[in-house]
Amino acid sequence: MRKKIVAGNWKMNLTKEQALELTRELVDTLGDLTEHQRVMVCPPSIHLSSVAEVASESKALEVGGQNMHQAESGAYTGEISGAMLKSYGINSVLLGHSERRAYFQENNALLGEKVDAALAAGIEVIYCFGELLEERENETHFEVVSSQLKEALFHLEASQWKHIVLAYEPIWAIGTGRTASPEQAQEMHAHIRGVLADHYGQECADGVSILYGGSVKPDNAKEIFGKPDVDGGLIGGASLKKYDFMAIVAAM
Ligand code: PEP
Repeated sequence: MRKKIVAGNWKMNLTKEQALELTRELVDTLGDLTEHQRVMVCPPSIHLSSVAEVASESKALEVGGQNMHQAESGAYTGEISGAMLKSYGINSVLLGHSERRAYFQENNALLGEKVDAALAAGIEVIYCFGELLEERENETHFEVVSSQLKEALFHLEASQWKHIVLAYEPIWAIGTGRTASPEQAQEMHAHIRGVLADHYGQECADGVSILYGGSVKPDNAKEIFGKPDVDGGLIGGASLKKYDFMAIVAAM
């Protein structure tokens, strides 16, 4: 049975003290999860080690990276590798976030390489993708999303999909306060699962957690997460506020 996941993407926010304070608060309030639930925070890479140390006091709180390089090692100033993440006990990484695509020119082909590098290092991938507002308005959103999936991920074997989580994030809903309606999220998530099923079979598709991301807040999380193909959320802004993040976790 696929898991429900709430993951917080802290982006380039919080000093060390703030990051550790928030982690401590989450550790103290999270409590136990069922075996079908996961909660994760993805801090900036400079905080990974110290956040992971505090998070290790909780059985429930996982820590993931926000990005990694596709090479194993080498002359790539400023970058981090999968092996480095792994050496700090980090077992998950976000790849393909729309901000990485927009500001760092990451495309589907490059992301395919990053996915391979992460899996080779034993790291689970949370693959983010989603359409622009103009693509939704000109009704090419299903096509765009299908291509983002196929071009970066369809070289994988079916057996590798147990290490992949998908995060559908319509770009027009990220950080804008404008959320996809629960019906729009469900419609796209069902489409994504259908594309997976066509290529890999229904069993594989049914095992993949598909998260929704884009202005999820305490007051809309329950309705969005209640849709059958929505398996939780990737949370940006609201993950920086303890009470908001915990309320979203509770909605899962
Ligand atoms: C995100 O950046 O992944 C995100 C969903 O941000 P926000 O929740 O702030 O829209």
